[in-house]
Amino acid sequence: MNRVYNFSAGPSVLPLPVLEKAQKELVCYGDTGMSVMEMSHRSSAYQAIIDECEALLRELLNISDDYKVLFLQGGASSQFAMVPLNLFGKSNKADYIQTGLWAKKAAKEASRYGDVKIVASSDDKVFNYIPKVTKDMFTPDADYVHITHNNTIYGTRFAEIPDTGDVPLVADMSSSILSQEIDVNKFGIIYAGAQKNMGPAGLTVVIIRNDLIGKAMDICPTMFNYETHSENGSMFNTPPTYAIYICKLVCEWVKENGGIAAMEKVNKEKAALLYDYLDNSAMFSATVENKEDRSLMNIPFVTGNDELNAKFIKEATAAGFVNLKGHRTVGGMRASIYNAMPVEGVQALVDFMKKFEAEN
Ligand SMILES: *Cc1c(COP(=O)(O)O)cnc(C)c1O
Repeated sequence: MNRVYNFSAGPSVLPLPVLEKAQKELVCYGDTGMSVMEMSHRSSAYQAIIDECEALLRELLNISDDYKVLFLQGGASSQFAMVPLNLFGKSNKADYIQTGLWAKKAAKEASRYGDVKIVASSDDKVFNYIPKVTKDMFTPDADYVHITHNNTIYGTRFAEIPDTGDVPLVADMSSSILSQEIDVNKFGIIYAGAQKNMGPAGLTVVIIRNDLIGKAMDICPTMFNYETHSENGSMFNTPPTYAIYICKLVCEWVKENGGIAAMEKVNKEKAALLYDYLDNSAMFSATVENKEDRSLMNIPFVTGNDELNAKFIKEATAAGFVNLKGHRTVGGMRASIYNAMPVEGVQALVDFMKKFEAEN
């Protein structure tokens, strides 16, 4: 069977060369005589893999020695608890910008441990825009401010990173990490589930400024304490070894293809292809109208007619464009076009949509 164009929001398409390399190395990795899956995480062969993965992430994202890179489990959803459990302590106050379902879940979880203030929200319009925030809106003595950098479900992103002054900014970058250039120094913590843009499910990457480690609340479980993982090189317990290995291969692929700047350029090209068509189509339209707020990674769109949406999804699936159904809270369609989706995939989708529009 041929590979399809997979527009899944996550887990999502991986670069074919990565899968092929993993396939080649699946049974015997290097001269170890075993699969990466079968290796002790304490072996020197495995240590080289995790070290290389970290080195590549540091190189690609330009991460300074002021930050630790941690390889954890539990998904981005565990970070919703881990962040407050580690950062609350001074004022026990945190500000959240509510730009979607994930942001809402993050705020709700944090409110179990301290005072959470929703400083801005786009809930009034099904999260189809990014609310304007200014520095004076933030609580001056907050322990941190939290944003969801790219809103996977609603297709918005922060084109500009809010200025929070001295208050550490925490960003959920699950669906945008490695997709565009980012100044890590603007953030206290960046976290991301790997399954959108950096590998398979099971791995969560945390980039955390050193001074935010070691101040966890007393009630913080050992496994949820950043210090535990920082002090043990992400090997306090068994890390998700195979997912880290695939993440390493993805990083190698990003580097071979020109690094993050090159990814961003292609991602902008892909997004422009689809948005331009949506803005000119008489049948389809993007749900996010404000151009500045539009995500480069997740593009929801609708026809305004549920039957037509269903017909489109059905015919697209049959033609090899899969996982285009939108999230239930938005309806319609959503095309997730992560790094591994080639320009040709988006072009082929646009061509298919044009044909569908002409026929219907
Ligand atoms: C997918 C996603 C999550 C949830 O990730 P899990 O790894 O499944 O916990 C959280 N935030 C964002 C922005 C996401 O896209």
